[in-house]
Amino acid sequence: MAPKILDGKALSKTIRIELKKEIDTLTFVPTLAVILVGDDPASAVYVSGKERDCHKVGINSILHRLPAGIHEDTVRQLVSSLNDDPQVDGILIQLPLPSHLDEDTLVGSILPQKDVDGFLAVNQGLTLMGNPHALQPCTPMGVMELLTRNQIPIAGREAVVVGRSMTVGKPVAALLTNANATVTLCHSRTRNLQSHVERAEILVVAAGKRGVVDSSWIQPGAVVIDVGIHRLESGELTGDLDHTTLADRASAFTPVPGGVGPMTRTMLLKNTLKAAKSRRNIL
Ligand code: NAP
Repeated sequence: MAPKILDGKALSKTIRIELKKEIDTLTFVPTLAVILVGDDPASAVYVSGKERDCHKVGINSILHRLPAGIHEDTVRQLVSSLNDDPQVDGILIQLPLPSHLDEDTLVGSILPQKDVDGFLAVNQGLTLMGNPHALQPCTPMGVMELLTRNQIPIAGREAVVVGRSMTVGKPVAALLTNANATVTLCHSRTRNLQSHVERAEILVVAAGKRGVVDSSWIQPGAVVIDVGIHRLESGELTGDLDHTTLADRASAFTPVPGGVGPMTRTMLLKNTLKAAKSRRNIL
């Protein structure tokens, strides 16, 4: 049987329609403030994509574009004023920042209730605890939506996550654990990665390197989420895995592009709405 494609683009569209419907019923307009420092072309493209996404679902997005050489105190003052601004529901600092700025300090200065990227320790902790008030990190949240909305059973299954970053691997492992999977979290110091991957009924690969996981290791019938994004010399986008072999073995898998990427963007919108509602005590 042909594997099921876990189509993040189509699912994002569905979720965005749901979000727009809900936002249209509100008596206020959720607002996202985006801070872009410098003129890195890739960051500018990401930010304009986020602004477009917001606009389409009825979220107001306000861009604060700052010069590359800006002093850290000035950025901190801006974050502080956005924290205090009752009109602002979510704050996003586009990363990476120029090297003279301390990302951890600046991101850490965002009010947890406005941390729509879900990067702050408070939100990571609440995510780990399975607390429903957490603003969860967007990519892990998107991975879980891809699984649950495609009716992939999770409870009791062997899940293997490759990669332990705070933005992807660790929170994915936490969310899968909260959904009652039995989770193995692998990283660059894992011995015999193949033996772990072979056990996976659900495999999430977020190593950021092609070829770390050989698709021939994947057990027939496994569900595979490929988080990696790489641009080949040809300009084509691809994931961490070889998708030709993957398609022969998996029962379901995410394409690249069109899998996790669009879900990450959509989860930012979902978090902005969630932040806007919870600041107003709307459940
Ligand atoms: P990261 O911070 O570089 O983390 C990579 C992780 O992979 C680390 O934990 C590292 O282990 C592990 N790793 C590296 N080599 C390995 C090996 N040989 N065997 C086992 N584990 C290995 O990357 P990230 O931010 O999590 O992102 C991962 C990938 O996802 C990247 O390609 C990124 O572009 C992509 N991404 C996509 C989206 C999306 O929306 N689709 C969002 C975020 C990220 P150590 O901890 O031991 O170093």
